[in-house]
Amino acid sequence: MPHTHPVLADFLSFTLSHHPIDIVKGQLTNGVHWHYLGDGILEFVPQHGSDQSLVLSAGIHGNETAPIELLNTLVQNIATGEQPLAVRLLMLLGNVAAMRQNCRYLQDDLNRLFDHRHQKLPDSPEAQRAANIEEAIAQFFDAASGKKYHLDLHTAIRPSSFSRFGLLPYQSRPYDAYLLSLLERCDLGALLINHAPAGTFAYHSSQHHSAESVTLELGKVQPFGQNQLAEFAGINALMRAMVAGTEPTTAAQPYKTFKVVAQLEKHSEDFVLNLPSDVANFTAYPKGTLIATDQGYEYIVSHGEERIVFPNPKVKPGVRAGLMVVEVNN
Ligand SMILES: [Zn+2]
Repeated sequence: MPHTHPVLADFLSFTLSHHPIDIVKGQLTNGVHWHYLGDGILEFVPQHGSDQSLVLSAGIHGNETAPIELLNTLVQNIATGEQPLAVRLLMLLGNVAAMRQNCRYLQDDLNRLFDHRHQKLPDSPEAQRAANIEEAIAQFFDAASGKKYHLDLHTAIRPSSFSRFGLLPYQSRPYDAYLLSLLERCDLGALLINHAPAGTFAYHSSQHHSAESVTLELGKVQPFGQNQLAEFAGINALMRAMVAGTEPTTAAQPYKTFKVVAQLEKHSEDFVLNLPSDVANFTAYPKGTLIATDQGYEYIVSHGEERIVFPNPKVKPGVRAGLMVVEVNN
C-alpha cells in the first residue's frame, strides 16, 4: 500500500504513537472519504453518503486486544478497497491510555462511565475519555439519516461456559428485529438481556441516540499478537457484511437467551463474593445459594437456578460486582 496514509496503514499504531496532529482526512481512490478525528476515532463515509450508520468500537477495556486487531485489519482492508464500504462508519478505539500500558483501565472502568456518569468523577483520566467518546458518537449519530447500529467489541477476563456471547442493553423500546437476526449469524453461544440502565457504551448509544446496540464478548483476553483470530471468524464476517451493506452468508445458529435478574452490589470494602475466584462466566447456582455479602446486604439465589456473569469483587464500592441471569425459553 505505497500511498496509504499511516492512519489507514496501521490505525492502531498511529493511535498509540501520540501523533500531535489531531485531525487528518483524505479520500480513497474509490471515492470513500476518511477522517481521523483524534485519538483512536476514525470515520469513513461512502462517496455518495448512506442512510445507514454503524459504530464499531473496541478497546473500551484497554487490554482486550483481539477486537482491536480485528478493527485494525478492517481499516487496512477498507483502505485498499478490498473491503467494500456502503455505510457511514465510525471506528473507535476506546481506552487508548490504558491500551498504551496494556491494562484494562488506569483509574476507573471506562465501561461504567457512559450515560454521562463520568460527570461524577471529573478527576479520573477515564472520565475525560468517556466525555470525548460521547461527543464523537453524538456528532456521528446526529448526522445520521436512517438506521443506526453499534457493536461494542470486548473479550472477557475469565473463562466462560459460552466462549462468545452478546449483551443487549436495557431498552424500553423493542429490540431491533434485524439486529437480533444478525446476532444469530455470528456464532454466539448466548445472548443476555439487561434489566436496567447501566454506564456501558452500548447502553449509552442505545439510550441517547436510539442506536441498535449490543456488547459482544468474544473469548478471553490475550496479549497483542497472541489471539487466535479464527475464533473471531463469525463476528468478523458479520462486521464485514454490515460495513459492505450486505447480508452475512453465515447460517443462522441458535443461542441460549438469558435475562439479567439482578446485579451484585458492592457497597463497601467488606464485600465478599462467596464463590471461587476463578469461577467461570455462566456458572449455575441453585435456589438458596448465598452468592455475596456486604454490610447490611446479602445476595441469595431466589430463582430455581441463576447463573453468574462478570463476577468481579475487586471493583470499587458503588460499582456492580457481577450480574445474575436466568435462562428464558425462546
Ligand atoms: Zn471488556
